[in-house]
Amino acid sequence: MNTAHIEISDREEAGCVFLISKEEASKLGIPEFAGEEGESYVSLKTPIPKIYAGMGEEKSLSLEGVRRGVSSGIDRALSMKLKTLSIGFQNACLGEVAMVGAIADASVLATYVFSKYKPPKNVIERISIKARDKHQPVLKRAILTSENANFLKEWISESPTIMNTAEMEKLCREVCEKAGLKVTVFGEEKLREMGMEMILAVGRGASSGPRMILAEYNGGASGKKKIALVGKGITFDSGGMNLKPTGHIETMKIDKAGALTVLAAMKTAAELKLNVNIIGIMPFCENMIGPNSYKPGDILRSYSGKTVEITNTDAEGRLILGDALAYAVEQKPDCIIDLATLTGACVAALGEFTAGLFSSDKELVKKLYESGEITGERVWHLPLHKDYSKEMEGNISDLKNALTGRVPGAVMGAAFLQNFVGKTPWAHLDIAGTAWWDKKRYYVPQGPTGWGVRLLADFLEKM
Ligand SMILES: [Zn+2]
Repeated sequence: MNTAHIEISDREEAGCVFLISKEEASKLGIPEFAGEEGESYVSLKTPIPKIYAGMGEEKSLSLEGVRRGVSSGIDRALSMKLKTLSIGFQNACLGEVAMVGAIADASVLATYVFSKYKPPKNVIERISIKARDKHQPVLKRAILTSENANFLKEWISESPTIMNTAEMEKLCREVCEKAGLKVTVFGEEKLREMGMEMILAVGRGASSGPRMILAEYNGGASGKKKIALVGKGITFDSGGMNLKPTGHIETMKIDKAGALTVLAAMKTAAELKLNVNIIGIMPFCENMIGPNSYKPGDILRSYSGKTVEITNTDAEGRLILGDALAYAVEQKPDCIIDLATLTGACVAALGEFTAGLFSSDKELVKKLYESGEITGERVWHLPLHKDYSKEMEGNISDLKNALTGRVPGAVMGAAFLQNFVGKTPWAHLDIAGTAWWDKKRYYVPQGPTGWGVRLLADFLEKM
């Protein structure tokens, strides 16, 4: 993994990025540079090249504009083969603290490269942020959080044959031990004893068996809220008997992003010593085809007691989450948030920029939305009411796991999950679009995006 070393320093570097708003750009008198978001311009008049990086209009400027400005400056520097870079701004229109944080975030994220199998041609080795020393705490927080987003990308980029459920157990144990989190692993035998038939069924076709992994962080003072984070961990999703076709199967190592985002967020919470209590619940399975695979038509008894008929083996995420959510409810958290690359329908609805948010808890909706706007990891509230839930009722079972025909797949997935959360305040984030990008945009690479770690860190910090 490659990332630049980032610090606050006045050091002269090989290149110098100036973050410029549209208003500031108009005073520069450079006809080719308007200061639009993501635009850049190089001036070679000075011994050290100056890279002007646009952030957009001041009156509508957001931290995302700052991040995108930084990434356009970094892209320019990379194309010029510069190894070190300073980044500065004149007009702290969003406040110095927030700007330093956003610059550090974008610097860490934009210089990340998955380099294990192909070394990058050019890398930025060091970035000096021109800011006052008193901003060290925000710098430290941003670097730590964004580095954990990079770890998330790293874990997902690796071959899915290597990153099977046994390897997930190893990874969770290592990360939790280092971060001081308590970790508990439920293997196949324990899952059978508990009656987690849905997790067992999904994992049955794979040579590496299913696991449910718990991580606990108790950083909260007494009386502080306890939050359950639940994540979908399908290490590779072939679709099972309802095999995915070419064009859909290639990226399916992403299907563990929900669970690994939970792991990365909990690592972050522990390292930042956040004043909150969290239980992370990560069911891991590989959805494969084999003589033991579960089949369409199978009727399963879930951990909650509800019975589920399998109508599509590719709608497996909601099954493992159903058991994990029912277990989460028993832990009596104040709220549950789950993250899952759940439906292609969510990508069709919202694309790659925004995650689907489903919740009937107004407070959770508001908080997650606000954290999304701050971090640039945006969410959008989609409907979830009884009419949808009724559609998921089965004929010979309480529920069926999927519908056919023209249905709002993202909503139906959420409606299915709602059956397992009882009255506990709950929010479901469908990250199928945001977790993997088909092309690089700004500071987000093609492939796994690391989406959600910064969103959750902001959300948890404010609990
Ligand atoms: Zn699937």
